[in-house]
Amino acid sequence: MIDLHSHTDESDGSLKPRELIDLAVRVGLEALAITDHDTFSGYQAALPWAKAAGMDLVRGIELNSRIDANGTRSAHILAYFPLQVPTQEFLAWLSETRRERNERNQKLIASLQAAGVDITLAEVEARGRSLTSRPHFARVLVDKGYAKSLEDAFNRYLGEDAASYVHRESLPTQETVALVRAAGGIAVVAHPIRLGLDRTAERRFLEDAKAAGLMGLEVYHSEHSPELQQYYLQLAAELGLLPTGGSDFHGPSVKPDIDLGTGRGGNVRVPLEFLVGLREAAARM
Ligand code: AMP
Ligand code: MN
Ligand code: MN
Ligand code: MN
Repeated sequence: MIDLHSHTDESDGSLKPRELIDLAVRVGLEALAITDHDTFSGYQAALPWAKAAGMDLVRGIELNSRIDANGTRSAHILAYFPLQVPTQEFLAWLSETRRERNERNQKLIASLQAAGVDITLAEVEARGRSLTSRPHFARVLVDKGYAKSLEDAFNRYLGEDAASYVHRESLPTQETVALVRAAGGIAVVAHPIRLGLDRTAERRFLEDAKAAGLMGLEVYHSEHSPELQQYYLQLAAELGLLPTGGSDFHGPSVKPDIDLGTGRGGNVRVPLEFLVGLREAAARM
């Protein structure tokens, strides 16, 4: 069993890279990919611990992209570098993405203050490490009594439907996929259920993304029912996309119902063959 989708506290997870490796060893994973949002810091910090523990650690990252022109729907793209090291151009683009995130965070603070919330950027940034994301805002809002739960914080203040919401720009999916390909990475559409597209539109979206360089589809995921997993496995085969899978583990204090390796109530089980497929594809690139 392997897990190709996990987060550390370098993005919005709660475990330190070293703790995540220890947990991967405890649950008996044969391989683990760290796929933090917009940063490789967690992967890099974990690498020495993984080596010492004999854990096969795969370099990954999760990126936002937008599906449509007006930017209301997003697609998360997982990029894997199982053999290659990403190019300098890609690393520079990531820094720029993190800079834009900081700008969004400053606007979000101003927007929350205008809504009467007593909050500072320093307070929120203290919760994060490599980057500060909305889940860090949510934790501060809960701790200060402005929201009952993380979900409540998103509903009232941080989510798309909240009055104080501030949008963060991202590239169109096809451009994101092309960027990953040019960087030497394998681009995969994460948790396709969250695209919110009907099956016809979803298939067309994946075909268009494949034309731009998409190589895989995340078929196993904590939010996919067994029926859906079978559907996506079939769809990946039909479209000539590599199947991947992972729990999307964020740590017990962020998503307590999702376990590393096995997902939600044991609904995820990713075979080692999926990683073999990624490595074979990477070797051909
Ligand atoms: P950011 O990248 O800073 O815009 O934050 C996006 C992250 O917020 C996502 O990766 C999710 O983990 C989290 N998120 C987004 N919407 C919600 C929601 N409605 N409830 C809980 N978490 C959410
Ligand atoms: Mn996340
Ligand atoms: Mn995601
Ligand atoms: Mn994720």
